[in-house]
Amino acid sequence: MKTRLFTPGPVMVPEKVMLKMAEPIIHHRTPEYESLFADVNVKLKKFFMTEGEVFTLASSGTGAMEAAVVNILAKGDKAVAVRGGKFGERWYEICKAYGVETIAIDVEWGRAVTPEQIKKVLDGNPGVKAVFTTQSETSTGVLTDLKAIGEVIKKYDVALVTDAVSGLGAHELLPDKWGIDMVVSGSQKTIMLPPGLGFICVLKDTWSRIERSNLPKYYWDLKKYKKSIEKNQNPFTPPVTLLVGLNESLDIILAEGIENMWARQALVAKAMRAGIKALGLNLFPKDPSNVLTTISIPEGIDGGALVKTLKKNGIFPAGGQDQLKGKIIRIGHIGYLDEYDVFAALSGLEMSLKAIGYSFSSGESLKAAQQVMSE
Ligand SMILES: *Cc1c(COP(=O)(O)O)cnc(C)c1O
Repeated sequence: MKTRLFTPGPVMVPEKVMLKMAEPIIHHRTPEYESLFADVNVKLKKFFMTEGEVFTLASSGTGAMEAAVVNILAKGDKAVAVRGGKFGERWYEICKAYGVETIAIDVEWGRAVTPEQIKKVLDGNPGVKAVFTTQSETSTGVLTDLKAIGEVIKKYDVALVTDAVSGLGAHELLPDKWGIDMVVSGSQKTIMLPPGLGFICVLKDTWSRIERSNLPKYYWDLKKYKKSIEKNQNPFTPPVTLLVGLNESLDIILAEGIENMWARQALVAKAMRAGIKALGLNLFPKDPSNVLTTISIPEGIDGGALVKTLKKNGIFPAGGQDQLKGKIIRIGHIGYLDEYDVFAALSGLEMSLKAIGYSFSSGESLKAAQQVMSE
């Protein structure tokens, strides 16, 4: 049976990209590789919409998050981490692991942090050098307004760092304009690759902070990556296969156009939301992201059983984590998918709900989604 990944990462990968990755491995200390890496870096800057530098790391997204922390802060600096879900918590935990005094802004899961909340904490805590945020909090399905937060942070001598691992490519994000010093992402989300690459975008003005940073680091020292990238090289052996795939997937993305990609993701999300509402289900987040549809499990329905049944029907979703375990179901819709995949997901959802005893009138979600698509 065909398995359809509807998780907010890993995602389905285009055949064209997989075929490219099946070619024989090339050595990385060769002109052939350097030419490929030069191409990839130009395309990455377009994808991140930046005049800054985008570094590719051999890690999952979390490695790139850790790289951000150890390169932006110095010993004795204070940091702020927004905790409104699992990934916001991760920023806090990484900062703590490096002994950074970290102030948490605890946000109710399902809601986004407000610029006012950030302003209040910065006013009350002099000495904060960086604020760590999450663009699309994948554990809850919430979108954060980084443009507005950037406006606030501009008035302080504070770096703004965001985890855009799932959100980049699904929502507008303009690092240079909005003043986001570091944007972190990963390969297994909208970039449509297998897991294994982390990305970190650094603005030109951010280098002075990196120069003064003295937190312990070796593999994640961005100064090494900067020196190498000038020669179209990596400081350590890069995952060549994934870089070959990346070159291909960036071609697909840039051919569609970033703005068109945002619009497609918005349409897919809108159709999904219309579909689940038509079944009498509710969205969990108040400020929903277009990366995934997070559904509150209705009273009397076993969330775990719903996830299991969906998987049996060939639709692979994600359940809830921690406090949301059994209370939500998350259907990711990024990566290699289109409008018709939405119908597959909704149809699978309807059949699975029916199988576990939730009653509604069949086909309503498909009707509502089609209505959105044809508008
Ligand atoms: C997927 C994801 C990550 C990265 O997790 P890894 O498993 O380390 O790749 C980080 N933040 C968000 C918001 C994500 O969706």
